[in-house]
Amino acid sequence: MMNEDEFTTDTTGTEPPYFIEKVVTFKRQFNPKYGIDRKCKCGHPYYRHFDTHDDFYPVGCKYCDCYIFKEAA
Ligand SMILES: [Zn+2]
Ligand SMILES: [Zn+2]
Repeated sequence: MMNEDEFTTDTTGTEPPYFIEKVVTFKRQFNPKYGIDRKCKCGHPYYRHFDTHDDFYPVGCKYCDCYIFKEAA
């Protein structure tokens, strides 16, 4: 964790060379505890919504164009 005070405290009274922009990103990740065989509304299992050859990158369903897993009711 970076110490933000280091960047925001200006002791010289001149313009700082940088403004600090806080960037927060949300990323969906494969959750192995969820249960890989749980069924999606599209009819395909949970793990099929990730690329098993690419570090379980959330690429969407391999069998159809369902992008976001939603458990079947
Ligand atoms: Zn699906
Ligand atoms: Zn599907």
